[in-house]
Amino acid sequence: MLAVKNYKFWFCTGSQDLYGDECLANVAAHSKEIVAKLNESGVLPYEVEWRPTLITNELIRKTFNEANMDEDCAGVIVWCHTFSPAKSWILGLKELRKPLLHLHTQYNEEIPYDTIDMDFMNENQAAHGDREWGHIVSRMGIERKIVAGHWSDPVVQGKIASWMRTAVGVVESSHIRVMRVADNMRNVAVTEGDKVEAQIKFGWEVDTYPVNEIAECVDSVSQSDTNALVDEYYDKYDILLEGRDPEEFKKHVAVQAQIELGFERFLEEKNYQAIVTHFGDLGSLKQLPGLAIQRLEEKGYGFGAEGDWKVAAMVRLMKIMTAGMKDAKGTSMLEDYTYNLVKGKEGILQAHMLEICPSISDGPISIKCQPLSMGNREDPARLVFTSKEGTGIATSLIDLGNRFRLIINTVDCKKNEKPMPKLPVATNFWTPQPDLYTGAEAWILAGGAHHTAFTYDLTAEQMGDWAAAMGIEAVYIDKDTTIRNFKRDLMLGEIFYR
Ligand code: MN
Repeated sequence: MLAVKNYKFWFCTGSQDLYGDECLANVAAHSKEIVAKLNESGVLPYEVEWRPTLITNELIRKTFNEANMDEDCAGVIVWCHTFSPAKSWILGLKELRKPLLHLHTQYNEEIPYDTIDMDFMNENQAAHGDREWGHIVSRMGIERKIVAGHWSDPVVQGKIASWMRTAVGVVESSHIRVMRVADNMRNVAVTEGDKVEAQIKFGWEVDTYPVNEIAECVDSVSQSDTNALVDEYYDKYDILLEGRDPEEFKKHVAVQAQIELGFERFLEEKNYQAIVTHFGDLGSLKQLPGLAIQRLEEKGYGFGAEGDWKVAAMVRLMKIMTAGMKDAKGTSMLEDYTYNLVKGKEGILQAHMLEICPSISDGPISIKCQPLSMGNREDPARLVFTSKEGTGIATSLIDLGNRFRLIINTVDCKKNEKPMPKLPVATNFWTPQPDLYTGAEAWILAGGAHHTAFTYDLTAEQMGDWAAAMGIEAVYIDKDTTIRNFKRDLMLGEIFYR
């Protein structure tokens, strides 16, 4: 499900024919070596592919249009080894639609003091060639990432790697299709939004199906398939009966197994990668999908509760951006529930009725069956766990009526201070940066939602760059946030993005 295409990034070196064939041969050899070493580094999540040196406007335009058409190309990396007159790039840049990284590097790390002469200077002049190139990109107002430093430096390679994940998020955003089998919860404002504008801005397709169509698909899942999945659950998770009859308990679990299989078939058949549900709109489903949704999220599907399609799409997006990441710690929908306001222990208990993704779990995962305090269905089975420690980001995409804003809060996830034996849901506990009070005040000033798309595995910079590529406002709440400056950020956004 989370198989992301084997994307490649084109490495395009800029030069010109003023310096003669020998120089151009060196330029090509050097850039080939850089590409090979970048690929050998093991740092980059995707392969870099060398392209012939770009020296004329015709070739630049042709190459960039080939990049546009190549479905495997997720972005273009440009570096000007020599001076490359930037007017030659105008037509190509105008037509480029793939994410763009300007790698401001040079072949040699150190100035060769003993041998340096004017030939060397002409051949190795990214320090001014890249400024000429950067000028035209800035003049044309084109969104791009700039990474400066020697290409062999692991810090530089790490920045390229990080941008690659953003670029894949940009390219993959237009492949996200969200299935709504329920509308937004009545009277709730923040989960609403303009779905047409979301498709224009992000490429998301957000479509509605009657809930009973998916419920019929659930009903058609065979008993034997259901039982096999129940067996898998019983192998994998701890069963916490808490006084319930074991047979009755297993029947409740089987309802979720059947929902998991039925939902997955329906989503696959109709080509959707994210889904929303609503506890008040379940048609003929016997339980609110809990364990079933948790398992689908773990497989890579996006999810939003109470019809929250923006969160569903964001969770899916962040799962794609982190796909294949070594030592990934997880990505999930979460919701701000309740505070601990004890001095020195401040934080927000994150949970939901049921639907937290087990990718963020730490330690054992249990199945419990408990009544829902809302809705009118039988007691749903759900996975219960606590989450990993560490830094993550909580994001909220809101519709302000005339535009979208992405709010990104860096948060420090901690162990719950004490067990909560009577709480039958998965939890996370975090302290927003810079502190609970400033973080909460800033979040509310920005209009952030109670639902979030959360991950341990991306940075605020990566999500902010994604937002910039989508042409929307991003605001950051982190260790540098003060309310006075944050208000100014919001005021600037009002002017810039109106
Ligand atoms: Mn909710």
